[in-house]
Amino acid sequence: MTEPVHRSAPHPGDGWLECSCGRRHWGLNGAAGLFLTRFGPDGRAPQEVLLQHRAVWSDQGGTWGIPGGAVADGETPSAGALREANEEAGVDPEDLELVGAVVLDHGPWSYTTLLAVCTPGRVIAPVVTDQESIAMEWTAISELAHRPLLRAFGQQLPVYLAALARGVARRRE
Ligand SMILES: [Zn+2]
Repeated sequence: MTEPVHRSAPHPGDGWLECSCGRRHWGLNGAAGLFLTRFGPDGRAPQEVLLQHRAVWSDQGGTWGIPGGAVADGETPSAGALREANEEAGVDPEDLELVGAVVLDHGPWSYTTLLAVCTPGRVIAPVVTDQESIAMEWTAISELAHRPLLRAFGQQLPVYLAALARGVARRRE
């Protein structure tokens, strides 16, 4: 385990937004995350996903989710998701292929999830780089049902998996 590196400064865009749904969400410009998977030995279907074990002090601390966070001012959600995955887990965007995206749209706020697969032949060895995580782990997709998941992530999981399957099938065409 590497020593956590502190973020130098908060990003413009960090903050809570009072949403029309009656709740508050993190990210003044919305938020974004990276659902990064890798293929099993057969190279056909994604078998593992990169999960973040969230720090105990964080919102719904101790649960598992994906790396992500607030979209910065002037940044696209895609760029935000890739930046967060790099900052939080050391993921190099050169090592992955995007296969789709899912947007949860609340109107004044939205959460964009990029769906990606690790490029065959590349190795992504996640590291914990800041204090928002206890661990970053490749986790079997079949095991997700047994993990305490961040509520919103758990609710959206079937949507992500369906979109991922479509994206992977398109990639093969
Ligand atoms: Zn909302």
